[in-house]
Amino acid sequence: MDTKTKTYRVGDARITRVTDTLLHGLTPTYLYGDWDAGLLNEQPRLRGLLDDNGEHVTLSVHTWVIEWGGQVILIDTGIGNHKARPFSALFHQLQTPFLERLAAIGIQPADVAHVLLTHLHVDHVGWNTRLVDGQWLPTFPNARYVMPQGDLDFFASPAGEGRRMVYDDSVAPVIAAGQSVVMGGDGGAYLEGFHFHPTPGHCAGHMSISLTSRGETALFTGDVVHTPMQIYRPQWNSVFCADQDQARTSRRWLLDFAVEQDALVLPAHFTDTSAGRVTHQDGGFAWQFV
Ligand SMILES: [Zn+2]
Repeated sequence: MDTKTKTYRVGDARITRVTDTLLHGLTPTYLYGDWDAGLLNEQPRLRGLLDDNGEHVTLSVHTWVIEWGGQVILIDTGIGNHKARPFSALFHQLQTPFLERLAAIGIQPADVAHVLLTHLHVDHVGWNTRLVDGQWLPTFPNARYVMPQGDLDFFASPAGEGRRMVYDDSVAPVIAAGQSVVMGGDGGAYLEGFHFHPTPGHCAGHMSISLTSRGETALFTGDVVHTPMQIYRPQWNSVFCADQDQARTSRRWLLDFAVEQDALVLPAHFTDTSAGRVTHQDGGFAWQFV
């Protein structure tokens, strides 16, 4: 399992990936309804994203850790441990050494000042909380957790009933502890240098988050893209996307923004280094891991 850390500098910020787990066994045809193997002939390097027999893609689940101005800021918090997820074996009752990996880069839970959540899906909010004496408590006792209003509204609606357990064990305890900050649907600035950009479609409240320091930009995409294949095929939505047209519109906006800003792009599920740059190519886009 590739969990080695690599640290990037964007202006004055240090950014490091800390892995929660890897999700194996997804077929490209399951992940992308519009899957067409012709992409692999056109872009042979993308074959490297498939496992040895060429049948499955792997998704990484990780947190981006930002050290900046003496503060520690996390983007998304993975799947978490001990969580009952009867709807998917991929997420059910995991036990990963995520906190040990955080400690290995010198960070204790009490050091974290802010947790910025791109959205409130099961694989992005898990380490918001941990089980202590039978109770779900915020993992990061001194952090403010920023969460999108649109996803809180979803959990409050009948449509959110099937995932209410995620809210109950990973979101509600943070709110109950008085540690939540709600980001409205229009997004906006947070702290100095962070900006929440509405990128709905994958889910109603989805936000991508940029960080600008000394003229350099990092772009945390969340789930606007799941693999580099979608950089070359921005019209491909994942099976997890809720609103198909919105998801495509958000993806094109994000890719244009990434090119314009020459951003270090830091998706939530890419494997390899999980980081790279987007460029224009042949009227579309191209991806380069860095
Ligand atoms: Zn995700």
